[in-house]
Amino acid sequence: MRKIGDHAVVLGAGMAGLLAARVAADAYERVTVVERDPLPQTAQNRRGVSQGRHAHILLPSGARVISELFPGLLADLETGGTPVIRDFSELRFSLAGRLLCLRGRPAEPFIYQASRPYLEHHLRARVRALPGVEIVDRCEAVGFATSATRDRVTGVRILRRAAGGAEETLDADLVLDATGRSGRTPAWLATLGYDQPPEERLAVQVKYASRHLRMGPGALGGEKFLAIGAVPGRPTGFVLFGQEEDRWILTLVGYDRHHPPTDPEGFLVFVETIAPPDVFAAIRDAEPLDDIVANRFPANLRRRYERLRRFPAGLLVFGDGICSSNPAYALGMSVAALQAIALRDSLTRGDRNLAGRFFRAARKPIDMAWQLTVGSDLALSQGREPRPLPVRVMNAYVNRVLTAAERDSTVAEQFLEVAALQHTATRLFRPSTALRVLLGNLRRSRVPAIGAATRVAVRDIR
Ligand SMILES: Cc1cc2nc3c(=O)[nH]c(=O)nc-3n(C[C@H](O)[C@H](O)[C@H](O)COP(=O)(O)OP(=O)(O)OC[C@H]3O[C@@H](n4cnc5c(N)ncnc54)[C@H](O)[C@@H]3O)c2cc1C
Repeated sequence: MRKIGDHAVVLGAGMAGLLAARVAADAYERVTVVERDPLPQTAQNRRGVSQGRHAHILLPSGARVISELFPGLLADLETGGTPVIRDFSELRFSLAGRLLCLRGRPAEPFIYQASRPYLEHHLRARVRALPGVEIVDRCEAVGFATSATRDRVTGVRILRRAAGGAEETLDADLVLDATGRSGRTPAWLATLGYDQPPEERLAVQVKYASRHLRMGPGALGGEKFLAIGAVPGRPTGFVLFGQEEDRWILTLVGYDRHHPPTDPEGFLVFVETIAPPDVFAAIRDAEPLDDIVANRFPANLRRRYERLRRFPAGLLVFGDGICSSNPAYALGMSVAALQAIALRDSLTRGDRNLAGRFFRAARKPIDMAWQLTVGSDLALSQGREPRPLPVRVMNAYVNRVLTAAERDSTVAEQFLEVAALQHTATRLFRPSTALRVLLGNLRRSRVPAIGAATRVAVRDIR
C-alpha cells in the first residue's frame, strides 16, 4: 500500500488497537501506540483489559483476518499450547435447551481457544516488531489537539506516567481511538463543538464469574469446548474449555437477578443447576487453580458515528468504542478484526473523507454482530421489551432452526457458522436449509418457544 501520511497514533493497545496499528503501519511512515497500562513482557492479565480473566475465544471470521495480517501467528499459538477446534464433534453446544447435533469437519478451524492475555501477548510482540511502530505504555491519552478551526484533529494530548506526568502533545496525521467501550471520544468531540454520536443501547445486566481448573485426564472424553446457554425459565449458562498449559477456564453467566456467586460453594451450586451430570462431576472433581473473579456487562452499546453530519478529519474510532455487544456471543475480537479490514480498504483510497468511508465500511460486520446479539437478547426478554417485527420473525425462525439442529448436523453447523459471522443470517433462509428446517420440525410434534418462561431485564432499546 502506498504511504498516505507520516504519523498515525493509535490510542489503546488492546486487541482493536493492535489490529489498527498493524493496518496503519502500511499506510503511515510511523505508528505510535499509546497505552495507559504498564504492558507485561509475558502473557499476563492487566487492569485495562479486566475481561481478559474471563473466557475468550477467537472465531473463524476473526482468525482469518489475524492470519492474513500476521502470517504464522495462529500456528504459533497452537504450537504454544492453544487448543484448536478442527472437528465439530469436539464441541458440546446447548442453546435455548437444544443440544446441537455436531459431527462434521469445518472447512477451517472453528475456534482458537487462546486465553486473552496469551493472544494479546503474541499480537503485541508482532506489532512491536513492525518497522516504524512504537508502543508506549504507561501513557494516557487525555484529549485531542486540533487545528485552529477545529475541523481537523492534529494530534493527541498525553500524560506519560513514567516521566512524571507533564502533559505533552503527539502530532499525528491520523488519531485512531481504540480505547474501548469507555473511550472518551464522544465527550472530547462535545468539548470541540461537535455532536456526540447517537447511541443505541440494550440493557442486559449480565454478570460473569470465572476461574481456571485442572481437569482430570479424559474427564470430558474428546470434547474440548462446552457451552450451555440460557433456557426458558433459567437465564443462566456457562462455557468450559481448555486453554494453554493444560488449564481449563470455566465462565458462568447470569442475567439480571440470576447472577453467579463468587464464593466457591455458591459457584459450584450454580454450576450444578445448569450442567449435565457428567460435566458437573468433572468440574466438581477438578482442581481449582485460582480465585473466582467477576465482571459485569450492563448493556449492548453501539455508537452510530456513521450518522454524524460533522466529524473532524484526522480521527477514527475503532473496536468496542463503536460497538460493544454482549460477550456471551464471543464476537468482539472478530468484529474488531473485520473493522481492521474495513480500515485497510478505506486507507487505500487516501486520507480524504477517510472517516466517512471507514465508518460506512465498518458498519457491515457491526450490523451482523449487533443483529445477532440484540436479536438473541430480545428473545430472552420474552415480550417484556418491544420487539420489532423483523426481530420477532427472525427469533421464531431461529427457534425452528435450533429444533432441526438437534438432529440435523448440517443445519447445526450452518447455524454455528452464522453465529460465528462467517455468513450473514440470510444463509439460514436458503431453500436447501429452509427445507431441512421444515422437515426437522415436522418430525417434532411440539416446539417450545425460546424464552417461554424467561424474565430477563432487557430494556432501553432506542
Ligand atoms: C467478559 C467478556 C468476555 C469476552 N469474550 C469474548 C470472546 O470470547 N471473544 C471475542 O471475540 N470477544 C470477547 N469479548 C469482547 C472483547 O474483549 C473486546 O471486544 C475486544 O477486546 C476489543 O476491545 P477493544 O480493544 O476495543 O477495547 P479494550 O479491550 O477495552 O482495550 C482498550 C485498551 O485501551 C487502553 N486505554 C483505555 N483508555 C486509555 C487512555 N485514555 N489512554 C491510553 N490507553 C487507554 C486500555 O488499557 C486497553 O488496553 C469479551 C468481553 C468481555 C467483557
